[in-house]
Amino acid sequence: MPRLEEYAPIVGADTLEELSLVADRVKGRSVLHVNSTAVGGGVAEILHRMVPLFRELGLDAHWEVIRGGEDFYAVTKKFHNALHGQPAEFTARDFQVYGETTAENLARLALDAEVVFIHDPQPAALVEKRGANRWVWRCHIDLSQPDERAWAFLRPYVERYDACIVSAPGFAQELPIRQVLIAPSIDPLSEKNRELSPDEVRGVLARLGIPTDKPLVTQVSRFDRLKDPLGVIEAFQRAKPYVDARLLLVGGSADDDPEGAQVLAEVRDRASGEPDILVHELPPTSHLEINAIQRASTVVLQKSLREGFGLTVAEALWKGKPVIAGAVGGIPLLIAHKHSGILVHSVEGAGYWMRRLLSEPEFATRLGANGREHVRQNFLLTRHLRDYLLLILSLDHPGEDFVPLR
Ligand code: UDP
Repeated sequence: MPRLEEYAPIVGADTLEELSLVADRVKGRSVLHVNSTAVGGGVAEILHRMVPLFRELGLDAHWEVIRGGEDFYAVTKKFHNALHGQPAEFTARDFQVYGETTAENLARLALDAEVVFIHDPQPAALVEKRGANRWVWRCHIDLSQPDERAWAFLRPYVERYDACIVSAPGFAQELPIRQVLIAPSIDPLSEKNRELSPDEVRGVLARLGIPTDKPLVTQVSRFDRLKDPLGVIEAFQRAKPYVDARLLLVGGSADDDPEGAQVLAEVRDRASGEPDILVHELPPTSHLEINAIQRASTVVLQKSLREGFGLTVAEALWKGKPVIAGAVGGIPLLIAHKHSGILVHSVEGAGYWMRRLLSEPEFATRLGANGREHVRQNFLLTRHLRDYLLLILSLDHPGEDFVPLR
């Protein structure tokens, strides 16, 4: 894994100096991250990179993944969708399954690090047995309009934390604890984002059997209804009479997402008989493949209907790609409309902009270049690490408000 000094050519030596100055203040602290999947999805993606760098900065950092059965993940997926604002029906059994799995994990995990970061709702109830150490709930979900019942269930747990981190200002809730805005980030040196030569890109696409004789319009995401893959297909069908391009929907599943197979089947069904729509399932560790696919694309889509943040958007922008994305979750932080990408609110909008970006390459290139610079300045891992370190430091002063530097 790359060491911190290797980031200097990308983010500047001053950024690294600042990081180590802050890290010196919290050196030696034990920090534990807990989430619900080791692979698949943005949270695992970030933790894989962040935990080793925390260690390099001198913290005693660890990462644990909770364990649960299928019934638990069915319940937590329902929670996930409901907290994102989709109405849901909960049964007494759902809450019981959640409680039982929490108890099993409490018995298994040592949660005595000086600072415990709990990611998302799946492990949130672990806080019920907290000690005097510091607990932070790191929410990666758009909490702006949660289903009332789901939020009423979760909220008493959240209130037991010392602080709650959200990814975008609109996600903040009325809470009696400190709330902090920390946007996620991507790692420019990871296999997912590092520079690739044109030969490497061609090689990967050939190996995957993805033809490149027509411009590729691509969406990379888990097969999840909130990523609107069927809306992507419809938007492409609208643009298709005017542009000769190919739509590529690529993605896999995550261990904590039980709906993926069904959504993938629906997508395949909708794409059947359409030679210019390719659906490609990838194992969750396909970082190089996704890197190459994003680089080989002419336009990247992320037509989400709800989004915790939208790491795929940051990844594509970092590769200088023009991105058309739903104006949801953290995506408006990543894209200033018509400056560093395109924000859309409908299938019609996505189809219209696909057509325009494919036929106006200079405009498309400018969007991509602006997007890359915006990501460089705001959404790389080094900024993210600094915000976490500042938060850890601020937990020493619980009475004072914490304002992350931007
Ligand atoms: N991703 C992946 N394989 C897939 C689909 C997605 O590695 O099949 C990665 C993607 O490149 C990004 C992350 O998973 O790094 C998804 O993060 P995002 O915030 O876009 O969405 P989430 O899946 O967390 O809702």
